[in-house]
Amino acid sequence: MSIETILSHVNSSSVRLVRFLYCDTSGIIRGKAAHVDSLQRRLESGIGLVKGMMAMNLLDQMQTNTGFGAVGEVRLIADLDTFTLLPYAAQSALILCDLVELDRRPFALCPRTVLKRQIQKASEMGVRIEAAFEPEFTLGTIDQGNFQPIDESLCFSTDGMNRAADFINRFTNALERQGIEVEQYYPELGHGQHELSITRAEALAAADRHILYRESLRATAAECGLVASLAPKPLANQPGNGCHLHLSAWDKNSSANLFRGQDGLSEFALQFIAGLIKHLPALVGLTCPSVNSYRRLKPRTWASAFTAWGYENREAAVRVPSVFWGQEDASTNIEIKCVDSSSNPYLALAGAIACGLDGVKRKLCPPQPLDTDPCSLSAEEMASNQVRRLPTNLKESLKRLIHDALLMEVLGDELARTFIMVKTSEALAFAKASVESELRQHRTKF
Ligand code: GLU
Ligand code: MG
Repeated sequence: MSIETILSHVNSSSVRLVRFLYCDTSGIIRGKAAHVDSLQRRLESGIGLVKGMMAMNLLDQMQTNTGFGAVGEVRLIADLDTFTLLPYAAQSALILCDLVELDRRPFALCPRTVLKRQIQKASEMGVRIEAAFEPEFTLGTIDQGNFQPIDESLCFSTDGMNRAADFINRFTNALERQGIEVEQYYPELGHGQHELSITRAEALAAADRHILYRESLRATAAECGLVASLAPKPLANQPGNGCHLHLSAWDKNSSANLFRGQDGLSEFALQFIAGLIKHLPALVGLTCPSVNSYRRLKPRTWASAFTAWGYENREAAVRVPSVFWGQEDASTNIEIKCVDSSSNPYLALAGAIACGLDGVKRKLCPPQPLDTDPCSLSAEEMASNQVRRLPTNLKESLKRLIHDALLMEVLGDELARTFIMVKTSEALAFAKASVESELRQHRTKF
């Protein structure tokens, strides 16, 4: 899209404000809006942002020990192709941004740039990655200051469908108006828990769409007088909200699905899975990066808690879904279950791509696929199948992340240091907080 096209869209649809958005180190979506009168200038040269914003944790406490604080500025530079009119905010649009230094170099802490780098590396190997984030969320109302789920409906129950129907229609409509195709919808297991999935896209577009999804979900719920939360565990006594990440790899030239072998998964796919399994305890530092994430990643909750993979095994961290009849080539993909919506989707996806492709480069061989609940294995069986418990808290996963040279390289020195400090500050802050305050803080942010 060109600046001229955007300006003509803006004029013909009476847009007054265009939100320039980014997703920060802590996974929070933030931005500044440009007024239509200065839009052309802003599209050409960006909007200023203090560098310290990337050192902010989810409690809005700036971690100045990172070296980022009151001094220093970057620009929010719009990716023109992401311009989207907002169905849920009158006369408003959004555009997704990269963080760029004043001398026009990419800012080391720009998450979108981190993902673009991994897409480029994949491309150098002749590979194109497609992905879909598959979020679960909880719908509720606020009753005397307390979050109350809107239903007590059962898994896939029509009662749940009926209770949420008005909202789901509106949300579906909002996504479609933003060019996002909806794939499936159903009420999930927990009270007020629902799942609505969207179609896969090229890696960068998939992460961008997840930002649009998060924005649309919460805003549309508010329009209906509801509160929607994508937090990994919004309620202590209810199932958590996953955001499973579906991945497929395609030959850049022939467009063949590289995960598809003669009779099931290809060797490429097995190596990719092996890379994921190897790095998984560190990767969760990026895919499950909040204190609240670890309330969800528990055994026997279908959220995954062990480094295992398997065919249609919902306790395995990497699940190979069965293919659709007649669409075997198009539908072969893998699903990483230990991912949630408190992650920055650009960093989570960049990390997952790097780990998978590391397995391919090093021709790694995965352990045997598991067709049981990893929990049911003896210690010896676990050891021989390379089944390890994933980190059980944020501090532990950050420690694993720091020791994973590949993922440190994915982030780059400056972002890695800042990420660890910001996330460590959250671990420390919530260690002193009550459970309810931790749940509420995450519920209201994601
Ligand atoms: N709610 C589960 C999770 O936290 C997932 C249930 C499922 O869809 O398999 O990941
Ligand atoms: Mg689900």
